[in-house]
Amino acid sequence: MTAAIIISALAMTAIVAVRYLISSGLFAALTARRFPGRLAGQRRQILRELGWSLASAAIYGIPAGVVAWGWQQRGWTRIYTGISDYPLWWLPLSVVIYLLLHDTWFYWTHRLMHRPWWFKQMHAVHHASRPPTAWAAMSFHPWEAITGAVVIPVLVFIVPIHVAMLGLVLTIMTIMGVTNHMGWEMFPRRLVHGPLGTWMITASHHELHHQKYRCNYGLYFRFWDHLCGTDKGLGQFAPARTRGLGHGDAGPRRSARVG
Ligand SMILES: [Zn+2]
Ligand SMILES: [Zn+2]
Repeated sequence: MTAAIIISALAMTAIVAVRYLISSGLFAALTARRFPGRLAGQRRQILRELGWSLASAAIYGIPAGVVAWGWQQRGWTRIYTGISDYPLWWLPLSVVIYLLLHDTWFYWTHRLMHRPWWFKQMHAVHHASRPPTAWAAMSFHPWEAITGAVVIPVLVFIVPIHVAMLGLVLTIMTIMGVTNHMGWEMFPRRLVHGPLGTWMITASHHELHHQKYRCNYGLYFRFWDHLCGTDKGLGQFAPARTRGLGHGDAGPRRSARVG
């Protein structure tokens, strides 16, 4: 039994690592094609982002692997496979609920991690990427990675979800995590600056968080930021030639407080 759990945890770690390498690699390649030379000056930073992200893959993989084993072997969790086990309208609704709950957890833990002591212990690693690249998607200190890794494995015990919808949630999580750090906007201007963009977080919104620290704490939605007055709108991407040279005015010491 113990061996099966360990194998499941290792397999899930490998899956998370490969998923990271493929998704970040793909969007980094797109970035390099669109903005030739932009990533050239960031080689050292990217290597650091890769190292922290692969460590995070293990931290994400272990609880996911244990829960996956329990789901298969012990009938744990409320993950279901029969499409008609719940009403059809539950399929999209469950995805929205997962994203909203994940977003809520992220917003409040993220705000906490911007208090000076917590910032130093847990969150400075993520903000050491200035500006971040697509490889920074999982660039977290292990303590921060733990706060992210527990969310879905806990939610599957509480909120019923079809296994395919769970796959969709994980895909959205991965793609948004990567693209929000890649330094350009993949969504059309009309969406980002339109009514949907007022509520949805894309790269321009998270870029401002990495520039100013004390605002735009959300993950998928701007709901909590709007409600708590921490939404400072959309950021401007630094021009290609200054990217990778660092921004001297937004150091964590001065800026790491809750906004
Ligand atoms: Zn970030
Ligand atoms: Zn932050």
